[in-house]
Amino acid sequence: MRFPIIAAAAVGLMALSAPAQATPTLNLAFIAGTSAQAQAAFTTAANYWSSAFTDTVTVNLTVGTGALSSGVLASASSNNQNYAYSAVRAAMAADVSSAIDTAALAHLPNAASVSMYLNYTSNNPNGLGSATPYVDNDGDANNTTIRMTQANAKALGLATTPSTLLNCIGNCDAFIQFSTGFSYDFDSSNGVSSGTYDFVGLAIHEIGHALGFTSGVDILDINSTSPNFFPDALFTFVTPLDLFRCSTASAANGTTLDLTAGAGIKNFSLDNCATTLGRFAEGITHGDGRQASHWKDNLGLGIMDPTIATGETLIVTPLDLIGFDTIGWNLTVVPEPGTLALGAAWLLGLVAIRRRAKTRAA
Ligand SMILES: [Zn+2]
Repeated sequence: MRFPIIAAAAVGLMALSAPAQATPTLNLAFIAGTSAQAQAAFTTAANYWSSAFTDTVTVNLTVGTGALSSGVLASASSNNQNYAYSAVRAAMAADVSSAIDTAALAHLPNAASVSMYLNYTSNNPNGLGSATPYVDNDGDANNTTIRMTQANAKALGLATTPSTLLNCIGNCDAFIQFSTGFSYDFDSSNGVSSGTYDFVGLAIHEIGHALGFTSGVDILDINSTSPNFFPDALFTFVTPLDLFRCSTASAANGTTLDLTAGAGIKNFSLDNCATTLGRFAEGITHGDGRQASHWKDNLGLGIMDPTIATGETLIVTPLDLIGFDTIGWNLTVVPEPGTLALGAAWLLGLVAIRRRAKTRAA
């Protein structure tokens, strides 16, 4: 079976000015041929993340430009590692440093495995490959394994093994590539010129995937089409972010998370959908046509939205930051309770901007 590396999508944005110390350290290696402008803009994006977090870790990124799939602006391929769920929960417990972390930890069962809402598997009790969800709580590999980017693991203090990745220069946590098929504005500080894409924002978005904003739903979604269906135990791709992905139905059925592919509301929530903080995209094949490793498109939720329009300046929202705080990064400036109302206000401002033809970030 093929289990492709998740390609990240493109989006960008900027914000939060930044306090002093630069942690984490983002080591950047540029592929020969990457323009000086692109290198400078990518460095600006890396510096943003260094200022947004306080985790004293080093993340190694290789960056380049090349021909990507049609309609795709940029992509991120990350080194991923598997960990026992119990080890991940313990790491999150040891990493608690905000009210968001405390709330997130309270949602996670103190057990060896998690239950999930699932579909499209070969052992779906509703029928082979059925789209109808079921409760998978049998404690086998996919219930006991969490998969995350190496950078996310570093933030959580989990052991990682230095290694490289296809196309990378040296030790590498992710390879990020920008399409040569589009025009970019490399300086969004004075707005983004019409007909061009916000390169810094796009780079912030792609680095965000490398830092752990991904979903195992994409693996299920992409690989499960007739006649190719696989047993649930093979889908050992639940990410830290997925632990906070729920639907009304998944919560009502008593599961910890909703890993189903398909259209329908999938929320970002710290309390199993009692309170909804945001909404996720649903998948390219069976869902809304956007990779599930993003916020839902066209709601102006944040830098981790799946598409971007020309002339659009991408913005990091409090919701983005809460997402990263939840999966293990420690924020320099923690959004206050009530910040989400601010996020909603920003949303109003962004909706109009985003009603344009947009290009997929991959
Ligand atoms: Zn993306």
